[in-house]
Formats: sequence, structure tokens, C-alpha cells
Amino acid sequence: MIPVNEPLLNGNEKNYLLECIETGWISSEGPFIKRFETEFAQRFGRKHAVAVANGTAALDIAIEALDIGPGDEVIVPAFTIISCLHQIVRAGATPVLVDSCPLTWNMDVNQIESKITPKTKAIMAVHIYGLPVDMQPLLELAQKHGLKVIEDAAEAHGQTYNGKPCGSFGDISTFSFYPNKHITTGEGGMVVTDDDELAEQARGLRNLCFQPAKRFVHERLGWNYRMTNMQAALGVAQLERLDEFIQRKREIGGLYSELLNNLPGVQLPLMQTEYAQNIFWVFGLVLDESLGLTAEQAMQRLAGQGIGTRPFFCPMHLQPILRNMGFFNNETYPVAENLYRFGFYIPSGLALTNAQIEEVAHVCREILQ
Ligand SMILES: *Cc1c(COP(=O)(O)O)cnc(C)c1O
Repeated sequence: MIPVNEPLLNGNEKNYLLECIETGWISSEGPFIKRFETEFAQRFGRKHAVAVANGTAALDIAIEALDIGPGDEVIVPAFTIISCLHQIVRAGATPVLVDSCPLTWNMDVNQIESKITPKTKAIMAVHIYGLPVDMQPLLELAQKHGLKVIEDAAEAHGQTYNGKPCGSFGDISTFSFYPNKHITTGEGGMVVTDDDELAEQARGLRNLCFQPAKRFVHERLGWNYRMTNMQAALGVAQLERLDEFIQRKREIGGLYSELLNNLPGVQLPLMQTEYAQNIFWVFGLVLDESLGLTAEQAMQRLAGQGIGTRPFFCPMHLQPILRNMGFFNNETYPVAENLYRFGFYIPSGLALTNAQIEEVAHVCREILQ
């Protein structure tokens, strides 16, 4: 079986992890945490970085730090992971969806303005599958209407928009270090911001809002969303190799694009847009309805030939839990629905060899022709 993802951990990961064990620093108090935060902030051009337990936790903290609550609306893409909506919904605010652009699969920024109301408090930009959201028009709208910007860069470490790093655009931006992301700590996440006040809040929220002066007296509810020194040790080692990893991801994407070129009825990821070159977080395929094959059927056939795949995101307006809560009644987002029905991705991890890529492409051609 060729797995859909396998990370590469053959740099300094082992040495740094051993250092944690030999020194006894295994909790969130260890020195790798500060080091990871400092180096990460520097790499992404931000003043502050706050390491947390995972990417979902980072988003929870972003929403809470921006004081989003009952009566507020947040504009989010329909085509994303549910992590983006968790805390919006739990805080009693309302997620407002926009559909995707059919070519980049990212939120269609032209649809944002019509969704802005007096209740809108923030726009959440989520970079999807390796290409960034078209940030300039989104930032202009946010400025014009006095809205905060949350940027979910969980799939975009090392990507840039017009030369500026993804993760440097939000009032708060977030990252994940799950093993299928460009760099991994097993589980892990990061909140980054240039705002001293927001950074201070994020540090408090990840740590149960303990207070420096009176430790066990709490003015606010937070979470235990701390990252361990062992995770940060992996993070420091992985960050050292980010440029190399991005280069390899682009090679993988380039090779697949070449090998799968001109397959009728199969849409491949764009190699580039006006503002970015794809970093292929995953290599997605979207089938045309005319092929008479859904993503689910294609994935089953590929599994039969030993090829691991994953379906695309199920859009937020189709989530049973959110519909049961009364959200998104009678709303449709046709592009997101089509991506869900006909989209999936093939093995895209860093440990993939060129021979495996050729094999995967060969089997895809046979099955989809
Ligand atoms: C992976 C991912 C997350 C969630 O990160 P976890 O570390 O798995 O909690 C959030 N947003 C996007 C866009 C992601 O791809």
C-alpha cells in the first residue's frame, strides 16, 4: 500500500528529542518551546508566536482572543475543515459561508462583500491544499469595513502571497503541525500575531488563564492547550528543513502534473496563480461529472490497487451537527458541493519516492481513462 501521507523525520529530530529525555525537560516548560516560538516568529515575519497543542486549539484561541461571541458573525469558507467553525459556534457567534473558486478551491473573495452585515466581526481566510487565498482584496474589504482577519495557514507553511509569507496576513494567524502538514510535531499548532495584547491573551488562554500574581485565581476561562518540549524539539528540527520540504513538495506536484496531464475529465491543481506558485500540500484531483465516477468510487478502485487516498472536505453547510443547530438552512454552495462529490487526493507526503509517484500516476491513468 502506498500511504496517502508519510512524514520525513530524518534530520535533527532524534538528537533534539534525546536532549529532552536526557535533561528531563518534557513538559511545556522546557527550552525548546521558547526556541521554536522565536525561530517560528522570525521565519514568518511576526512579532509573537505562541505554541499550542494543535491547529484546532490555535483557531479556538484566535476566536476567543478576538472576543468573538453572541451576536457576532464571522465570514468563513464553506469548503474547509470543521476546526475553523468549532469555537465560532461554541462561543455563540454565527458562521457565514462563502463558496469556493472552482480553479483554486480557495474561498471566492468576490463573494465576501455581499455577506458583510453590521454584525460581521471578522473574516477567516483559510489557505486550501497549497494555494493561498487571494489576500489583497480580502484585506481591503476588512479595512474598509473595520473587520478583523483570522488567517488559517495550517496548510501553507512556507507558501507566500505576492512574495509575503502566508501566516503574516492575519490580525491573528494560525498553523497546525499534524503529521500531514508541511512540518510536523506529531500534534501541535501555533498562534502568531504582531499585536502585544493579542499575544498576551493567547499565552493566557492556552494555559488556563493562570495569573502571574495569583496563580489559582481566574478572571477568565481558557484551556490547557500547551505544547510539550518534546513536540517543540521536533518542531525546531522540522523548521530547519522547511525550505527543502517545500522544494520537494513542488517537485512531487510537478511530477504528478506531468504524468497526469491531459487525462480527459480530470481537473488537476493549478501549478500557479498570479500571486503564488503551488506548494501542493496535497495533490488533489477533481473528476468531471461526465466520467460517470464519483470521488468515492474512484478512491475505492485506487484502494484496490494499493493506492491510499483521502476525500476532499465535506462543506460546512452539509455538516449534520451544524444543520441540527439551525445553521445554513436552504443554503447551497455549488462549487464546494462539487469539490466534495468529485474531489480526492492521492499520496502526497514527503517520504514519497519518484518511483511511487510514477506507480500512483500509472494506476490513476488506468482507472480514470
Ligand atoms: C489540519 C488543519 C487544521 C487543524 O489542525 P489540527 O492540528 O489537526 O487540529 C485546521 N485548519 C486547516 C486548514 C487544516 O488543514
